[in-house]
Amino acid sequence: MEKDEIQKLTNAGEIAKKVKEFAREIIKKDVPLLKIANKIDAKIEELGAKPAFPINLSINEVAAHSTPAFNDETLASGLLKVDIGVHVDGYIADTAFSLDLENSEENKKLIQAAEAALNSALENISTKTKLREIGAKIEKEITSRKFQPIINLSGHSVSQYDLHSGITIPNYNNSQDFEIGEGSFAIEPFATSGSGKVKDGKPSGIYNLEKETQVRDSFAREVLAYIKQEFKTLPFCSRWLVKKFTTRALLALKRLEEAQVIHQYSQLVETQRKPVAQAEHTVILTEKEKIVTT
Ligand code: MN
Ligand code: MN
Repeated sequence: MEKDEIQKLTNAGEIAKKVKEFAREIIKKDVPLLKIANKIDAKIEELGAKPAFPINLSINEVAAHSTPAFNDETLASGLLKVDIGVHVDGYIADTAFSLDLENSEENKKLIQAAEAALNSALENISTKTKLREIGAKIEKEITSRKFQPIINLSGHSVSQYDLHSGITIPNYNNSQDFEIGEGSFAIEPFATSGSGKVKDGKPSGIYNLEKETQVRDSFAREVLAYIKQEFKTLPFCSRWLVKKFTTRALLALKRLEEAQVIHQYSQLVETQRKPVAQAEHTVILTEKEKIVTT
């Protein structure tokens, strides 16, 4: 890895750490998620970076992929996952934590399980660590607490302007002998009192560019040009586009989705609708060092 690359990744990580501290200060039970999202977006910009993806604020059984719509009225509650992405010049920090807003013993234990799993996975990690070894550590910490890891959600390698690049890091022992190698990686265990799987739920309002096709509608083309320029190959949300183009953006998004130029993610919901906790850090691994950036 180039020095310059490591510099930008650590810079993004430093900013992400500050944004997390800020998030912990402003998130309280019954604060509107929309207000939280807008404040966090503004904080990221204030610190000289950009969001690498729309903040995920996912409650209880929704494990991930939930961001407030421009007119969202949901209030913070339950077991809330706060997943934040920051990028500097396309170099990404991806990090998450969970909050118990109900003073629930089970929520607290789930959060401890996810955090212990993350710490254990990062403890002795090196370029030589096998993917199954990371998964096994995560699985052990979570199952020893009588919970389940979510096996169809995983960590991932992170490249410039590419949030999920190539390598998948399992949250259980998947028998993969592949060594993780050099690079930058997001490790993200999820712990649940449910069955340990997620399925697709409602549309999330989070999109990414899918493929290049002709779009007839000229306004949709204008919105698409803005998406490409502003977010490149990173995920984006309707909230950001409504801010730029007013609610007219929603129709353009619909047209682009119909033409399969953009893809909308679904919310990821625990199959037994049981609560889920998440913890996530981004780590740089080189032959010489390990840097947890977030
Ligand atoms: Mn994340
Ligand atoms: Mn991630």
